[in-house]
Amino acid sequence: MTGLLTLEAAIEAVLARCDPLPGERVTLGEAAGRVLAEPALARVDLPPFPSSAMDGFALRSADTPGSLPVVARIAAGSPAPRPLRPGEAMGIATGGVVPDGADAVVPIERVVQTDDKLEVPQVVGQNDNIRPRGGDVREGDVVLDAGSRLGAAQIGALAAAGVAELVCALRPRVAVLATGSELRAPGERLEPGEIYEANGAMLATALRAVGAHVEHLAPVRDDEGAHRDALARALEADVVVSSGGVSVGPHDLVRSAASELGVEEVFWRVAVKPGKPISFGVRDATLVFGLPGNPVSTLVGFELFVRPALRALEGELDPGPRFRKAPLAEPVRRNDTRDELLRARWRDGALEALGGQESHMIVRAAAADALVLVPRGAGELAGEVSYLPLG
Ligand code: AMP
Ligand code: MG
Repeated sequence: MTGLLTLEAAIEAVLARCDPLPGERVTLGEAAGRVLAEPALARVDLPPFPSSAMDGFALRSADTPGSLPVVARIAAGSPAPRPLRPGEAMGIATGGVVPDGADAVVPIERVVQTDDKLEVPQVVGQNDNIRPRGGDVREGDVVLDAGSRLGAAQIGALAAAGVAELVCALRPRVAVLATGSELRAPGERLEPGEIYEANGAMLATALRAVGAHVEHLAPVRDDEGAHRDALARALEADVVVSSGGVSVGPHDLVRSAASELGVEEVFWRVAVKPGKPISFGVRDATLVFGLPGNPVSTLVGFELFVRPALRALEGELDPGPRFRKAPLAEPVRRNDTRDELLRARWRDGALEALGGQESHMIVRAAAADALVLVPRGAGELAGEVSYLPLG
């Protein structure tokens, strides 16, 4: 098994070919899940004015403790009718504009109210319960940098900072192509030797979940012309992900068809299990992944190579694969020449390898929470390990 590319080298080779896609201007409502191509700047100070952190009373610290008349009530959304004068208090709601002249807010729980009089029994410190203008971010400052993926908190931050439009990377267009004369769609009747097509559906699902535009092509027979026609169409996308047909059999036609269509092969075969026969090539800026057909190989190949590539195309700064650390429940044997990705499940805060680790066993893999990386080498692996979360 010497001469195979290592997993690290293969990932590096893929990422080296990922040029970020151009940006486009989108509204905030269209930006969820996408990646900023340019920094987003605050349109206002946030908060835009000194605001109250509590329901209570605005006053001057110097007037406390003391007995003060309540001269106005300030709701959220409208400023005080006039500045606060020494010796006065104004009722104020959370988020209300602290009036000029006031330098503190005392919470409602800490005072005694009688009619329009207020007893403040204790000293209220200067600036207590006042959120200063610009305390979260200042107008013109960066809310989020280029390369940030916009999840819920990020969209909330942009909205709060008044960002209505931003520049996001184009979403990658990805063509999905399953190969194999044996493939039938679920619901059809299987003739002898046929199986149901799983990889195309699986890849399309994974790709849509990361926000790609998916073109899901019909499965192709193991026939050179059919491969060429389908690949020619697929190559119009930014990324082609095929499954099957990259091994050494006479019906493995993906690499030769890709080569005839001008795809330059960057690598074929990586020291990883499952998924060894994976191929990767490029035609101009289009990335071409030939994932092996066993469904677990396709799943693992997606996590190791395709997902990081999509992140890199969108300009994410740390495209991955993003391994995390966790303890392994039971030691596992290493493979001496190939890095292995074991399907594993959480048990009491540790990851436990599932039974049924063969690369055709997608039903077993569907129970997994994680792919545990078992680095190549002698003996057993135990203790803290690296894993990729699934699902
Ligand atoms: P291949 O990589 O084409 O040699 O395929 C390896 C194994 O995966 C064979 O048993 C195929 O029948 C199976 N296979 C290939 N493509 C698919 C697919 N799209 N869905 C399910 N199984 C597949
Ligand atoms: Mg095949």
